[in-house]
Amino acid sequence: MQILRTVQELRSWTKSTRAIFGDSAKLGLVPTMGALHAGHLSLVRAAMDECSAVVVSIFVNPTQFGPSEDFDRYPRTFAADCALLEAESAQFEIAVFAPSVDELYPKGAKTFVEVDELSSRLDGHSRPGHFRGVATIVAKLLIVAAADRAYFGQKDAAQVAVIRRLTADLLIPTKIIICPIVREANGLALSSRNAYLTPEQREQALVLSRALRTIKSKFAAGEHSTTALKKAALEVFAEEPVVRLDFVEFVEWETLKPVESITEGNLCALAAYVGSTRLIDNLIF
Ligand code: AMP
Repeated sequence: MQILRTVQELRSWTKSTRAIFGDSAKLGLVPTMGALHAGHLSLVRAAMDECSAVVVSIFVNPTQFGPSEDFDRYPRTFAADCALLEAESAQFEIAVFAPSVDELYPKGAKTFVEVDELSSRLDGHSRPGHFRGVATIVAKLLIVAAADRAYFGQKDAAQVAVIRRLTADLLIPTKIIICPIVREANGLALSSRNAYLTPEQREQALVLSRALRTIKSKFAAGEHSTTALKKAALEVFAEEPVVRLDFVEFVEWETLKPVESITEGNLCALAAYVGSTRLIDNLIF
């Protein structure tokens, strides 16, 4: 498995891989911040199923973290990540792109990608500047990798909306593929940040998926009013008062604008603090 450290190395990898596979080459990109888990690996597997070769980027992007957020202590487990990818990639052309911060943000960098309106909704409202950092790094990765397809998780549903908008607006031809949320058997959505949780907090964190399941079953029973669905979610959160709800919102997935009555394809997104760890989860109706 090749480890690429520079933009130049990634560009060369793309070029030489296309030369090997010829006109029918399909290159896949899986952007991650590392600390890989089965959720990330589901993206890698989807990419391997559909592409001739796959590059997984591992980069903890400083510009998407706020000043008081966890950039410094974000889990960095590069050797273990490579071992997991190595195990996945037997007989398959997989590369890891793991650049330094200076490599992706050249000295004096002044250019950022701002997706108007969407960037200040949901997580963007709670984490000002977060989606500006996400949009900027994803645009850089899409441009440099020049892959045919890029794989993202529904787990970060607001991020998906931002990325879809940005690729359409910047005329980036890479096809964006969204993969379902991978959960533990108990419902907890896998996240690199779950590593921060104590065993007790992992139990408390189940309230997020429980609230979503309640919403889903009420919707299935015919309740489409977001006021009523939100009330039901708040009642579930009240059962776990140590978990501090940041938001539960019902929006149109494409625009992230609030809706009053649910129709198919709408998004229910929620975020909550378990101790100091901020977790997110969602469902698409
Ligand atoms: P991250 O490393 O947290 O930036 O995530 C990298 C990619 O993996 C993003 O597209 C995430 O949405 C996706 N991802 C993270 N957790 C999960 C999960 N539990 N299921 C599916 N995809 C996920």
